[in-house]
Amino acid sequence: MALYKNGPSLTHTDDKAFDIVHTPGTAAPHPGIYKCTGCGDEIAIAGGHTLPPQNHRQHNTTAKIAWQLLVYPVQQK
Ligand SMILES: [Zn+2]
Repeated sequence: MALYKNGPSLTHTDDKAFDIVHTPGTAAPHPGIYKCTGCGDEIAIAGGHTLPPQNHRQHNTTAKIAWQLLVYPVQQK
């Protein structure tokens, strides 16, 4: 589970980007932290990069492996 210390630095949102489950090996639509829906592993990914493939590591689950956005950064204009 992701950790944080300074809660006021985070903003809650209902952005639908957090509802989408992404297939392993596809492009991440946002940079940020993604959580594996299968085993709960979390990764950080840079903008324009590809989400890890299904064999990103050994999983302690037989559940389907997919990535869901957990936190994304908001850059100042
Ligand atoms: Zn996983």
